[in-house]
Amino acid sequence: MTTVQVINPATEQPVATFESMDLERTDAAIARAAAAAVSWRDVAPGDRARLLRRFAAAVDADLEQLARLEVANSGHTIGNARWEAGNVRDVLDYCAGMPERLLGSQIPVAGGVDITFCEPLGVVGVIVPWNFPMPIAGWGFAPALAAGNTVVLKPAELTPLTAIRLGELVLEAGLPHDVFQVLPGKGSVVGQRFVTHPAVRKVVFTGSTEVGREIMAGCARQVKRVTLELGGKSANIVFADADLQAAAATAPAGVFDNAGQDCCARSRILVQRGVFDTFLELLEPAVRAVRVGDPAEESTEMGPLISAEHRDRVAGFVEDSTTVAYTGTNPSGPGFWYPPTVVLPDSASDRVATEEIFGPIVAVLPFEDEAEAIALANATDYGLSGSIWTRDVGRALRVSRAVESGNLSVNSHASVRYWTPFGGFKQSGLGRELGPDAARAFTETKNVFIATE
Ligand code: NAD
Repeated sequence: MTTVQVINPATEQPVATFESMDLERTDAAIARAAAAAVSWRDVAPGDRARLLRRFAAAVDADLEQLARLEVANSGHTIGNARWEAGNVRDVLDYCAGMPERLLGSQIPVAGGVDITFCEPLGVVGVIVPWNFPMPIAGWGFAPALAAGNTVVLKPAELTPLTAIRLGELVLEAGLPHDVFQVLPGKGSVVGQRFVTHPAVRKVVFTGSTEVGREIMAGCARQVKRVTLELGGKSANIVFADADLQAAAATAPAGVFDNAGQDCCARSRILVQRGVFDTFLELLEPAVRAVRVGDPAEESTEMGPLISAEHRDRVAGFVEDSTTVAYTGTNPSGPGFWYPPTVVLPDSASDRVATEEIFGPIVAVLPFEDEAEAIALANATDYGLSGSIWTRDVGRALRVSRAVESGNLSVNSHASVRYWTPFGGFKQSGLGRELGPDAARAFTETKNVFIATE
């Protein structure tokens, strides 16, 4: 094991150290998870539900501490961090309703009875990125546990602290040892072992499309189940008939939330040509008003980027030739800051309009009509989220059906609720998380025929 230091991205000061797991410890943890799976699957559904509710209560009791830890580790604003810890609690509570509801079917057959069972898979490996350490962990582990699986979870190396705390809370809540273990470490060591270890029966991966592709290829060798939540380049489509004031006032939150480090960020704003200039005028004060600063301050709306390296990557998207319409502000001094930035690409094929930036940069592009808006929105390998602003209900539905994306919102940017399904089309992912079927994604259907003659 090696000791790794965690840095506060708003101050560049050390926050804590953690032990990074080596292969030997990872294997030992997976072996313990496999042993624990034998008894966890047999815990009565009502008891499993009660234990998950206790886990939710433990998270709730620790909510402020978890939120403060995320502010220090990830630079999330305190408001967001409280929501994120609350989301873990809520997902646990919601999934606690699932053990008694994993219903099978009874299918009419001749000569007997045919029934189906939802069987747990065994050990599930959850691999988490650094951008939303708490919610993304919860979306994987809560339904997996509810379905009777045990979980090994690997947080991102930059942001392991809240996951480590959740690994303590699960024991305080009274769940048996080894049912949920947190294994901080490298993707190439711990994450890869989830892919290659035969006792891990499913990998839930959230992260870049590049790594997701490799995970899928690795899992294919064992026909291992996999859920992938990958990148995005989502479009916020503003039609001329929309409430332009509302569209412009909310567009910054739709892309700059979490400093743009959000797979659902609406990082392309497509605006109908007739209102393009008006929209840009309305957007400017909203962008300049974004309060960027100390994430621990209650009024702050945007914090820093996660690391110096990531800030350099983000800044690299704004080249000398890029037309910057305007920017917001950011603090000077220590911290990995980058201001909210609005760019006007020369063409829809410019890098800034096609690649996932994962920072506070938004590209604004014009379109002529509905057909072109749909074509532009779909002119990407990604398909995760998006927004449609119009007062025409028919158009709202037509465009919602035509945009190849897993999570859309009309006259809103809200696309994540724990009780609705979440996931991507095309190279934004595979499978769905959350929603009423969340636990089913962690089961195999078994069909049993019982002869009566
Ligand atoms: P990343 O792909 O670099 O890493 C994600 C996780 O995978 C980390 O824990 C990392 O240690 C691990 N990992 C890296 N290489 C691995 C390997 N070879 N084998 C196994 N595990 C490995 O992504 P990131 O930079 O941490 O996160 C940003 C990306 O995540 C963005 O592309 C973003 O869009 C995406 N994301 C998607 C969603 C979604 O739900 N669709 C949500 C959040 C983030």
